[in-house]
Amino acid sequence: MTNPTDRGLSRAERQAMPIALDVAVEIAKHNGVCIRPVVLRRLDTHTGTTEDVNVPCGTTMEAKCPPCAKRNRYLRMAQCREGWHLEAEPSTTPDEPTEEQRWLVEFRADMQAQRDAAEQAGDDTTDLDAVLTGLDDEINAAGIRGTLLGRTAAKRNRSTRRRQDAPDLPKRVRQNTTLGRTFTGSDGATYRPSLFVTLTLPSYGRIRAGQGVPVDPATYDYPRAARDALHFSKLVDRFVQNLRRVAGYDVQYFSSVEPQKRLAPHLHMAVRGTMPRAEIKAIAAATYHQVWWPSVDEVRFEGEHLPVWTERSERAEPYPDGQDGDYLDPATGELLPTWHEALNRLDADEEAEPLHVVRFGPQVDVQGVLSGTPDADQCIRYLSKYLTKSLGDTLDTDNPAQRQHAARMVEALRYEPCSPACPNWLRYGVQPKNAKAGMAPGRCRGKAHKPEHLGYAGRRVLVSRKWSNKTLAEHKRDRRTWVMEALGLADQPTDPHRYVWKPVPAGDDNIPSLALRLLRMVAERQRWRATLLALEDRAVGQDLSAMREAA
Ligand SMILES: [Zn+2]
Ligand SMILES: [Zn+2]
Repeated sequence: MTNPTDRGLSRAERQAMPIALDVAVEIAKHNGVCIRPVVLRRLDTHTGTTEDVNVPCGTTMEAKCPPCAKRNRYLRMAQCREGWHLEAEPSTTPDEPTEEQRWLVEFRADMQAQRDAAEQAGDDTTDLDAVLTGLDDEINAAGIRGTLLGRTAAKRNRSTRRRQDAPDLPKRVRQNTTLGRTFTGSDGATYRPSLFVTLTLPSYGRIRAGQGVPVDPATYDYPRAARDALHFSKLVDRFVQNLRRVAGYDVQYFSSVEPQKRLAPHLHMAVRGTMPRAEIKAIAAATYHQVWWPSVDEVRFEGEHLPVWTERSERAEPYPDGQDGDYLDPATGELLPTWHEALNRLDADEEAEPLHVVRFGPQVDVQGVLSGTPDADQCIRYLSKYLTKSLGDTLDTDNPAQRQHAARMVEALRYEPCSPACPNWLRYGVQPKNAKAGMAPGRCRGKAHKPEHLGYAGRRVLVSRKWSNKTLAEHKRDRRTWVMEALGLADQPTDPHRYVWKPVPAGDDNIPSLALRLLRMVAERQRWRATLLALEDRAVGQDLSAMREAA
């Protein structure tokens, strides 16, 4: 049979070959090749030539397709392993953006312009949106603060009464280090113990053992479960703040948010250094997060009676940023308070209570782990176990009780505001932040409401800045550099301005079919693997399997 990736064939010949897409996808999956590559046109400013490049969807932090998800998981494991028992202080990150960071930001600006142009022209922006999301993640991972993108909003001054006081916890004198203590054994060996902590949300009602479904769905506290999931990431932030305050050093962590069988998020955290178990438990028990959002106790608009959008409202003050109209009550003509007005009212109300207070449950697991032990490896595998799945994916769809449990959770999330910009605020008589035409309660498109996320729309992996002192992108590049060196090849030149990237317009005739692109990528991957296998034969005692996985 003729090899369809043979470059000797003419375009016409290649296209005449029948390649079923599903076959190509299977082959790609089997070879660990991205099945949803995005095509970008790359102009080489040094040579003036252009080339279309298949960029794996998982070039970014949040892997989309199964092969990319798997590859990212390997990278995450390497990242976790590298930082946990670090022996030397990581060097401090410079404040000036690096060349790479600058390049990322410029590239993003380019892509945004392309996306906006495509939207104006009425084209499909799905692919470009995916690229942008990926770039945002990469930019965040490269350690750039929101200011560079102009996203940081001014902090509100909340009255001191509402300020969330640090819980009553012991405080150690702060040492300027990120490393944990070491201990010397009777044999003179040095031990570097670290912690593996698991934090869980409280009970919402009794659960059927092994099944993860409520014994009595009627009394299971779905509203609380929904709100806890929505605000879980802020609770984790508080926990880290308190942990650092008590520990007396700049505690570093690598954590992952994973689903429990009962469909609540929980947290696994590798912590560098050690502390008494009782102290970790005390910190978890004392940690809470208050959600100071307007009340949702009273449903003011539902069914046919919904707020109406107007662009010609008589308002005394100028529109808030990002808003050029108002929602009003169609019965009375009264303008609903904007998000900022609602927050101001809340601040002025002495009697107001937070919308929600989220805390951990009493189940806190703390395990001491020594570097380089099988225990440590086990924990690292555990930390990355579910990274290829979203929260709702762990659902056993063959089990009707589980399906119903998930459906009730989605229902509980339906009218729950997921963010200040959530259209659900209209139900409670408040205009969402950046309100615009076409919003309706129950129709928020935010991730948190979706069955695959079940309330938790935050990042799945949370890594502190001085963990391994490398971003995921740097870990990726490490591996690439290693492979290139092993092959005796020089790595790519690093001139960040060498290439100009442009998305390829949909329907461009020069783009081969997805099936062909996948098969080409497979052929390339196989060449790499063959070379690495040959190297492995020569490199006695070296296990390159991990490299092969990540190459
Ligand atoms: Zn992919
Ligand atoms: Zn929402």
